[in-house]
Amino acid sequence: MPLTFDNRFIRELPGETASSGSSRKVLGACYSPALPVQPSDPKLLAYAQEVADLLGITESEISSDWFLDAFSGRKLLEPMQPFAMCYGGHQFGHWAGQLGDGRAINLGEVINRDGQRWMLQLKGAGPTAYSRNADGFAVLRSSVREFLCSEAMHHLGVPTTRALSLVGTGDLVVRDMFYDGRPRREPGAIVCRVAPTFVRFGNFEIFAARQDIPNLRRLIEYVIRTDFPELVRGQEHVDSAIIVQWFREVCRRSAVMVVHWMRVGFVHGVMNTDNMSILGLTIDYGPYGWLEDYDPTWTPNTTDAEGRRYCYGQQPQIAYWNLAQLANAIYACVEDKESLEGAMELYIQTMQSQWQETMLAKLGLLRWTSAEDSLIESMFELLRAAETDMTWFYRLLGTWPVAQAHRNDPEQRSKSALKHFHEAYYRPEQCDGVYVKRLVDWLDRYDQRVMEDHTDPSKRRATMELANPLYVLRNYLAQEAIDRAQEHGDPSDIMRLLEVLRNPYKEQLGMQRYAQKRPEWARNRPGCSMLSCSS
Ligand code: AMP
Ligand code: MG
Repeated sequence: MPLTFDNRFIRELPGETASSGSSRKVLGACYSPALPVQPSDPKLLAYAQEVADLLGITESEISSDWFLDAFSGRKLLEPMQPFAMCYGGHQFGHWAGQLGDGRAINLGEVINRDGQRWMLQLKGAGPTAYSRNADGFAVLRSSVREFLCSEAMHHLGVPTTRALSLVGTGDLVVRDMFYDGRPRREPGAIVCRVAPTFVRFGNFEIFAARQDIPNLRRLIEYVIRTDFPELVRGQEHVDSAIIVQWFREVCRRSAVMVVHWMRVGFVHGVMNTDNMSILGLTIDYGPYGWLEDYDPTWTPNTTDAEGRRYCYGQQPQIAYWNLAQLANAIYACVEDKESLEGAMELYIQTMQSQWQETMLAKLGLLRWTSAEDSLIESMFELLRAAETDMTWFYRLLGTWPVAQAHRNDPEQRSKSALKHFHEAYYRPEQCDGVYVKRLVDWLDRYDQRVMEDHTDPSKRRATMELANPLYVLRNYLAQEAIDRAQEHGDPSDIMRLLEVLRNPYKEQLGMQRYAQKRPEWARNRPGCSMLSCSS
């Protein structure tokens, strides 16, 4: 076993000492000890070598007994000290009280060759003090989705927690997937997640809600010293000014993360404050989804179908709201209260500047001029006017022959425009004369802007390809891999899909199938367009 552990979180922070099995209210503690349940017949279904590399685990060690033992929860490695964290959270806009790691067990912190700290965490390895009425396990379908999406997001350049391994437990888990009172038995699985820390906004909120200010302060200091050491360099005390700097950094990172989501078409689905990482990482892949036809009101989460609080277009506002909850939580530890408002302002500014930068890259433009706001708004209107695949639209825009496509022959220009973007339309019959006129008008404006920038066409295309992925984890692709693994006992599609998603921006020979827009059969199929939280 090549791993070096340094379990600082439980060494330095207060926790419960005894690990009684039952769910309970946990006071004055950041964590409770927890033990993984032994799986009856664990099998390694997939793994990410890049994450193993981060930890210093070689390819041959992945097939070793200790690897399967450790990451299935069958046997702890000697230095592991497993625990579950205590946190609270605002769910769908309301304070929900104590939540905590109900089905996640942190195994310990690995220090790698470069001195980086990585927390290892099993998701779905059994109940903890925070499981409330639930069982602490996870089903294969949701574990495949978490495993693949964590890695897909990383390769897209989106800040995220990582996934080392996916293990089938050999045990069955009962879930009422459709909430229709007909529970089914489904195969269970465990993902080993990896991140510098899994601390969330909710870890701070729970102490603030209980007015446990000493522990709130301890946790803030710990997180700053451990995960934001650049903020304390040379200073003995973590004072109020440092705490404000830290909150500003959380605001900044959260804005960067959400702009990436908007760029690639990711919808988190459950942006509760317990699902917001203090590091600005995408965390907790549950009923997430990828935007197919561009519709900012789309949410993959069936529980949110009515309110659409967490739909694609709302994500920037929701992150802001969540940051306001974090500001409230740390309020008692900050002297200059107004500086918290300044930090919230920084969120808005970062969001704006990152958004502009991102949209310039997505459109292949060099400078933000007074024309862009309206150009982009009209583009989004266009995308909604006919059901248009967002991913395909941007890719095709990258190869659009600016200033060449029959500029002086309106009929030919309409034809070539429609032909060029054909692949992006879900219902080509929606592209009537009125639509085509709008498309051509918009392309005229776009051409004009590109020409003003004097960009070399191949350079423009290259920039656009780096901002506009070709391969994303389309909802139906994940579902196909799940079906093969679950119904045919063949998990090989998971690794195959991961292989394609490793290079999302570059066209890969023979892999067109993975770039295809959603087929019609997947339009309304559960798991493909709508997901329940039952996982
Ligand atoms: P989520 O919406 O998945 O982020 O979960 C919200 C809360 O419910 C967290 O505290 C989870 O740990 C807990 N939870 C979700 N599913 C389970 C489960 N199967 N067993 C125990 N706790 C769970
Ligand atoms: Mg969660």
